[in-house]
Amino acid sequence: MARHSIFGKAAAGGALLAESVGITGPPDTLAAEGIGEVEIERNRRGKPFKGKVFAAVHAHLDDIPYFCAGTCAKLINEGYTGYLIRTSNDEKCGYGTANENIKSNEEEHYKMAEILGFSDVFDFYYRNHRMDGISPVEIRSRLIFLFRHLKVDTVLTFNPWGHGEENPDHWVTGEAVGSAYWMCAVDEDHPYVRDYEEHLEAGIEPHEIGERYYFVGRAGQPYNHVVDVSSYIEQKIDALTACKSQGGGCWGSRLRKKLAKEGKRLPILGNDDETADRAYVKQFMMTSYKRLGEQYGLEYAEAFLHFGGQDTPVTASASYSRRQTVEEYIKKHSVPVR
Ligand SMILES: [Zn+2]
Repeated sequence: MARHSIFGKAAAGGALLAESVGITGPPDTLAAEGIGEVEIERNRRGKPFKGKVFAAVHAHLDDIPYFCAGTCAKLINEGYTGYLIRTSNDEKCGYGTANENIKSNEEEHYKMAEILGFSDVFDFYYRNHRMDGISPVEIRSRLIFLFRHLKVDTVLTFNPWGHGEENPDHWVTGEAVGSAYWMCAVDEDHPYVRDYEEHLEAGIEPHEIGERYYFVGRAGQPYNHVVDVSSYIEQKIDALTACKSQGGGCWGSRLRKKLAKEGKRLPILGNDDETADRAYVKQFMMTSYKRLGEQYGLEYAEAFLHFGGQDTPVTASASYSRRQTVEEYIKKHSVPVR
């Protein structure tokens, strides 16, 4: 795809000057609720996922870096091809005008995607903080097209039913993925493409997504799956440091400047902005992932509500278990036709 070349144009930084230090931060994953038996996903040898595709779908530049950058880097290293989809235009988030924010977030989004190893980036550019005014059917149809076109096997996104979510861009995006994932496939009970049949005419086949990772976006959201991201924590730090317009990637240099005005300095912040930014992320923004990891005997971890995959059986839906029951009954009781 020609769009890959945009990676090369991603400018370093893009931060605009302002005095305030952002107030958002990573979710307190300690406050999340582990439900049932929590499964631990550890490093796998080699490239067991070669040929598989995942899509990480978020609303804003800093969502994936906060919630699942380590897991994305891990899956890509283990063979997956990763695609990154951002639904909003991030116009409200940054230190400049709306126009400047759209540009800086876009550039940083490409840079962050490259750091994590994504193969391509798709931006939907819906207006920031106004996504609850967009037709859910439109967002869903765009996702279904991409999931089929890219042959996505696995999705990572917000929990579509996650409570405590006040940002409309987050829950609208989660809900759209939560419905697109099953509509892009063919229902086994009704094996005809009924959703967007015209895709077939364009040579785009239905595709089944077998695995979902819904990240913990807010305190109190449930998880049943913890991913060991200890080997990928430096990539996660780099990804967050690339998020200058929002998410904390410029807070180190801001703090350094603020302290200098007061005649003070922190040795860990070094002597230049980039060193300060990275050191700040490493020192102050990894705590919740470290604390979550410690609960499971890991150095760093990310938490998800997880369905499907090779380690977890597909959640037994009513129709799935009915089909199994019918199959078993046929095996036991069927007789030859005379
Ligand atoms: Zn967000």
